[in-house]
Amino acid sequence: MSLYDVAIIGSGPGGYVAAIRCAQLGMKTAIIEKYSTLGGTCLNVGCIPSKALLDSSHHYEDAIKHFEDHGIEIPGEIKLNLEKMIARKQNVVDMTTKGIEFLMNKNKIDVFQGVGSFKDATHINIKKNDGKTETIEAKNTIIATGSKPSSLPFIKLDKERIITSTEALKLKEVPKHMIVIGGGVIGLELGQVYKRLGAEVTVVEFMDRIIPGMDGALSKELMKVMKKQKVSFELSHKVKSVERKGNEVIVKADNKKGEEITFKGDYCLVAVGRHAYTEGLNLEAAGVKMEERGRVAVNAHLQTNIPNIYAIGDVIKGAMLAHKAEEEGTFVAEVLAGQKPHIDYNLIPGVVYTWPEVAAVGKTEEELTAAGIAYKSGSFPMRALGRSRASGDIDGFVKILADKKTDEVLGVHMIGARVADLISEGVTAMEFRASAEDIARMSHAHPTYAEAVKEAALAATADRALHV
Ligand code: FAD
Repeated sequence: MSLYDVAIIGSGPGGYVAAIRCAQLGMKTAIIEKYSTLGGTCLNVGCIPSKALLDSSHHYEDAIKHFEDHGIEIPGEIKLNLEKMIARKQNVVDMTTKGIEFLMNKNKIDVFQGVGSFKDATHINIKKNDGKTETIEAKNTIIATGSKPSSLPFIKLDKERIITSTEALKLKEVPKHMIVIGGGVIGLELGQVYKRLGAEVTVVEFMDRIIPGMDGALSKELMKVMKKQKVSFELSHKVKSVERKGNEVIVKADNKKGEEITFKGDYCLVAVGRHAYTEGLNLEAAGVKMEERGRVAVNAHLQTNIPNIYAIGDVIKGAMLAHKAEEEGTFVAEVLAGQKPHIDYNLIPGVVYTWPEVAAVGKTEEELTAAGIAYKSGSFPMRALGRSRASGDIDGFVKILADKKTDEVLGVHMIGARVADLISEGVTAMEFRASAEDIARMSHAHPTYAEAVKEAALAATADRALHV
């Protein structure tokens, strides 16, 4: 039986990054993945394929709606080839997952394909596709089994017309009317993909705002812009039934007044969140304790109640984000190597890859108000930037929140072109505990979208933005 310093169950961004870091630190490392490709949700049915479709659909929308504004005329009809678009997405996924195989090889990590389950706290059974089981011994194990899409108890997902994000990434036709249940990140990103491709899209949300959890001003602006893009929103609606009749999907919901509202479409995307996935792990055999919502319970070192077993990523508490899982993968590897790593969860950015993109780090205005922290706020509209006018991406703003007394940046909230990339400036500033004035005094290249960060910082410093 092979003996490993560390075995990792699950090869998503948490698991594969943990494996690389463990190997870099000299540990004999094994990674176990039940699917035939590595990379987990993120690379196979999450971050990467959704971004590939967002990019393709964005090009299509530009071609049919915006090329003309730029003086580009295309003779004849512009046609969508959905099959090709989906095939390209799959190609991007395949190249990316192969890249992880390469990295495992390069770092001399043993990859086992099969379902991993605990035999006891130091032995893991790996059940292969051919029915055979192999057992390995591991001094330490990292559980990185991720999450699966959630649903509502009364919804029967048929995976054809009543679908989750996984199916929405490989539809064979553009829906006529897609009803999206859930106005969170995944529902909005995929809703926007199909809206651009020609579907009517209705987002039905239980809360009174979309992207709940992000700063209220971002929710408002994103909804305003997506309404301009002709996406319909039904907020404060509690969905109570979803039924399929032939090719029709009927969604019934109660509105705020308690009236029953019926929505009819041909596809329903259920995007009500995700839940931790531990099925088949046989955690009981190792004695690992769970906490609420099916998550694995861990302490501040991401260690479970069993000292040699750790857990990271979507399967534990916290934001369900690939980069959070990655940080935790590195963290546990370094803990195992006897180092003293640190993660500042306040500085894990959140991003929505709609267009305009939405990105944030640190505290929202709502959180600062609730905590009774006195703050200053400076905002700058994207439309005032030369760069935005040049590209035609004039929606959105950057808002910087800073401590009223010390001027330390407490939160950065952005909506606009390329803010998914721009948010790194906010993360860097906050990591080094910059003040708004520090950012305001840094030279930002002109013309760039990043100038909005400087201007918002100027606005937060002493209301002295230059270009409004
Ligand atoms: P996962 O990526 O879920 O990987 C877990 C792996 O464990 C899987 O491969 C699974 O097969 C394997 N596994 C489970 N049980 C076993 C077992 N018993 N034996 C062997 N293997 C097992 N996050 C972002 O940060 N940015 C984005 O843009 C983004 N977009 C997303 C879009 C969509 C449509 C979805 C669904 C998610 C998106 N996410 C995004 C979230 C992101 O995918 C997750 O946060 C991330 O994948 C979590 O990583 P993980 O390593 O914890 O788990």
